[in-house]
Amino acid sequence: KRVSREFKELDTVVEVGGVPIGGAGIAIIAGPCTVESREQTLNVARAVRAAGAVMLRGGAYKPRTSPYSFQGLGEAGLRILAEARELTGLPVVTEVMDTETLPLVVEYADMLQIGARNMQNYSLLRAVGRTQRPVLLKRGFAATVKDLLLAAEYILAEGNPNVVLCERGIRTFDDSLRFTLDLGAVPLIKQLSHLPVIVDPSHASGRADLVIPMARAALAAGADGLIVEVHDNPAYAVCDGTQALVPDSFAAMMHQLARIAAAV
Ligand code: PEP
Ligand code: MN
Repeated sequence: KRVSREFKELDTVVEVGGVPIGGAGIAIIAGPCTVESREQTLNVARAVRAAGAVMLRGGAYKPRTSPYSFQGLGEAGLRILAEARELTGLPVVTEVMDTETLPLVVEYADMLQIGARNMQNYSLLRAVGRTQRPVLLKRGFAATVKDLLLAAEYILAEGNPNVVLCERGIRTFDDSLRFTLDLGAVPLIKQLSHLPVIVDPSHASGRADLVIPMARAALAAGADGLIVEVHDNPAYAVCDGTQALVPDSFAAMMHQLARIAAAV
């Protein structure tokens, strides 16, 4: 299979708007769960850029558990993300939820995020595989490592080799946290596949006070990067406020991570 180490021995480095993910460095992606307003997104983008993030995240189309929750700003959100990219120089990763909106999202996004709920949406995987745009493929919360690798295979099989995998926590018997971060999956996937692997400590824990220790652990386990949610006013966040770091905490995290990155 194309995802396997047997197919390709050397680590794949995925370039996103000039930023490498995989290989020697550590890539930290940060930003709000969702684009709420121009001011919020530009504020957060500036703050994470100043602290050393290399890419901006933010959802314009949100896969919400309830159909009555905020669903995202759609194209208006994509335009705000493009403005934040222009302002900060940070490439943008944003979620594409379906094949209908893919042509629109491709116009704005440097990297296409496939969310956990869509990891096995095979028509969507095939469609992003027919673009050459880098893809961030998040592990489904009931997906095995094998399921994740085979989902990535759909994208590679269509001719797009630019895939980054993301461990973001799975559902287990233990519901003390939002999900259970499967840290063992990180070195396991790196053994089985040449694709870069990043970790999302925000969705995995659901708690801002646990994001930093889990981020440290992820880098120690060999992750090629992280995707972290940051908000300038988490108490008023429209979505995932409990897990959002404020910009000061994000900057503190970046200092701690520099020491771990130097050690691994
Ligand atoms: C997100 O990154 O905002 C998100 C919805 O993540 P996941 O698909 O991992 O739940
Ligand atoms: Mn979120």
